[in-house]
Amino acid sequence: MDVRQFSRRRFVGGVTAAVGAFSLRRDELFAQGQTPQFTGSDNDYDTFVKLASNENNWGPPDSVMKAMNAAWKYANRYGYPDGNVVQVIADHHGVRRDNILLTAGSGEGLNVMATTYLGPGKKVLGVSPSYASVFQQAANVKADSIQLPLTKDFTQNISQMIEAANRNARDIGFVYLCNPNNPTGVVITAKDVKELLDNIPKDMPVLIDEAYHHYVDDPAYGTAIPYVLEGRKVVVGRTFSKIAALAAMRIGYSVAPPDMIREMRVYASNSVNVLAKWGAVASLKDPAAQADVKSKTVTLRNNTSKVLESWGYATIPSQTNFFMVHLGDRTVQPVIEEFRKRGILVGRPFPPMLNHLRVSVGTPEDMEKFIQAFKAIFPQKAAATARGGR
Ligand code: PLP
Repeated sequence: MDVRQFSRRRFVGGVTAAVGAFSLRRDELFAQGQTPQFTGSDNDYDTFVKLASNENNWGPPDSVMKAMNAAWKYANRYGYPDGNVVQVIADHHGVRRDNILLTAGSGEGLNVMATTYLGPGKKVLGVSPSYASVFQQAANVKADSIQLPLTKDFTQNISQMIEAANRNARDIGFVYLCNPNNPTGVVITAKDVKELLDNIPKDMPVLIDEAYHHYVDDPAYGTAIPYVLEGRKVVVGRTFSKIAALAAMRIGYSVAPPDMIREMRVYASNSVNVLAKWGAVASLKDPAAQADVKSKTVTLRNNTSKVLESWGYATIPSQTNFFMVHLGDRTVQPVIEEFRKRGILVGRPFPPMLNHLRVSVGTPEDMEKFIQAFKAIFPQKAAATARGGR
């Protein structure tokens, strides 16, 4: 089985050669866990089409901008009215305030989870490729990770996960599910989530990262928040960075049983800025704006995928604001450079899927430029079908 084990010892020793396993050095793992920062000037930044970081290229709606602008008057304060943001989030989900941990982006929540439930000798269990930030933070707190491979159709093999969870039960600090998964855009069905929760040790925490929840249409998918209300050891991560277009404002939250929130809060910065809080409240109060972003994004994603497929390149059907396209026999790094030369930033490599490119969905103009560039870089082939690629 192509299981990836990341251990501190291996980081020290450099790249390992476990049989059939794929391994990253610590610096590579760090790179995987990072959202790339733009290092050029303001002018450069504006000229690039930004399809690399699964951002919301539409930007915040007027309702959110207005609320944030009105909050500037508190910029000099420590204590100030915050729009009752925690209560608004709790009400939005039908949970209590003590079920919510507000964090500076949901990424902080993932880190806090790792700091709280991992440590030397502990392991996080997840899949690869996935959002690697959790594995990175595991390494930071001197814990290890078990990363199972995706199936051939890019789904997560839940029975394999259950088996690994039970076999390593003593060492596992928590299980990480990214749903939908980044970078593939594929969901774990509600049935599979339940199957996992019902068949791992009851006291094993499970972190379910729903950063892209708002883009999902698949009726087989469901949020895991009801499990929190049942009192299971489930933590759900949510963010305002995607559908709410507040990535640079840094606001997200975890939903979990009160005892877990209490344990986690100790390790959180408890330092979310005032504009972010007011922006988040306004976003939750403007569901029409969120629905608009979703429908525009999904339509553009599907249309772009169709164009690429008719050009001969298979895409992985996605439920998010990004998708992956198979590059045939080309590897992704030089392709990223070719797009960059044409003024387009696209996703970084996600080993072992090195023949796939992750593309975030931008505005119609962004996607038009992306398609033109893709057609210039790749020759036309016989039409491909969705889901192909390995
Ligand atoms: N989880 C997933 C799956 C992500 O893709 C991201 C960001 O891209 C995050 C969490 C973290 O986002 P943020 O810290 O901006 O909320």
